[in-house]
Amino acid sequence: MIDYSIKKHKILTAGGGTELSLTEFVYKAPSAGKVLYIQSGLHGGETSQWVLYRLHAFLMHNLQCGEVHIVPYANPYAWMQRAYFATFGKFSLLDGKDFNRCFPGKKDGDVNARLCAAIFDLASKADFVLDLHTSKSSNPFAIYTKFDYEPMVKACGLPYNQYSDDASIPSLHGTFNAALDRVGVANITIECGSHNEYDEHKIKAVYDAVCAVLAELNLVAKTETKPAVDSIYRFEKRNKIFSPACGLFKPEKALGSKVKQGERIGLIADAADLAQMLEVKAQVDGVLQILAAGHIVWEGDVLAEIVPLSDLHKIA
Ligand SMILES: [Zn+2]
Repeated sequence: MIDYSIKKHKILTAGGGTELSLTEFVYKAPSAGKVLYIQSGLHGGETSQWVLYRLHAFLMHNLQCGEVHIVPYANPYAWMQRAYFATFGKFSLLDGKDFNRCFPGKKDGDVNARLCAAIFDLASKADFVLDLHTSKSSNPFAIYTKFDYEPMVKACGLPYNQYSDDASIPSLHGTFNAALDRVGVANITIECGSHNEYDEHKIKAVYDAVCAVLAELNLVAKTETKPAVDSIYRFEKRNKIFSPACGLFKPEKALGSKVKQGERIGLIADAADLAQMLEVKAQVDGVLQILAAGHIVWEGDVLAEIVPLSDLHKIA
C-alpha cells in the first residue's frame, strides 16, 4: 500500500493576518528508494497542475520504491496576484522581481526570500527535482542546466529541449535550477505548454515525461513503450521576432512547425491603419518554438521565437 499524506508548511503571515503556507502531497512506497520532488506553480497563473491529477492515480497504483513529494502551487503568494480574471504571478508586485530569481532564499529575509527559502527547503532534500512551468504559447519542452542531466531529458521524450548554462550567466544565479545545482541536486524544468491552457495532447506528453523520470529513478517499473517522437533535439538559442507595430497578432503557423527564412508566420492588424495587415516573417530557417501568449501586442513585443536550424543538435 502506498502511504499518501498531505502536509502543510507555514511560510509567513501576510497582510491582514492571512497565513501563507505550502501544501505538499507525499507518496511513500513500502520499499526504500530515491526521493523525487515535483513542483508547479512557482509562477502564479501557470496551469501545469493538470498533469499532477493524472499522476496521483498512477502513483497510488504503481509507486514501488522511494518517495514522491508534490507541491502543486509552490508560490501561493504569486497566485494571489489577481486582477479581473488574470492571475499575473511571474513577477512579485512587492519589488518587481521574477519569483524565479531569488533562490535559495533566506528564512529571515524579505518576503520573496522567505517564500523561496520555504520552497527550497522542501526541494533540496530530494534526489531529483522536476519544476513545472508554462511558457507563453508553446508546446511542452524541457530546460536543463547541466549536460549530466541530458539522459533524463532524452527519457522525457519531448522533441525540442533547451540547454541553459545558468551557472555562467550572472543574472540567472538566483534561479531555482542554479541554486539546486549548487547544492548538488539534479533537476530539470518542463515548460508544459501555454499559459492558462487545457490541452489534452500536451498534458499527455508531460504526463508521459514525468512517468519516464519515475522509471529512470527506479521508483516505478520500466515499460517498453515506443517513443512518441522520432528524434530529440537540444538547442540554446531562440531567434526573437519583435512586433513592428501595435495591434492584434494572428499567427498562421502551428507551434513546432519548420519555417524558412522570409516565410510568413502571421499577420499584424495595425492599430494605426485599418487598411494595414502587416506580414510577420521568419528571420532564420528553424522551428517555431514559442508564440506570443495572446493576440494583443505592442510595438516591440515578442511575437514569436524560432530555434535556428543551425542550433538544433540531435541527442536521440
Ligand atoms: Zn514559470
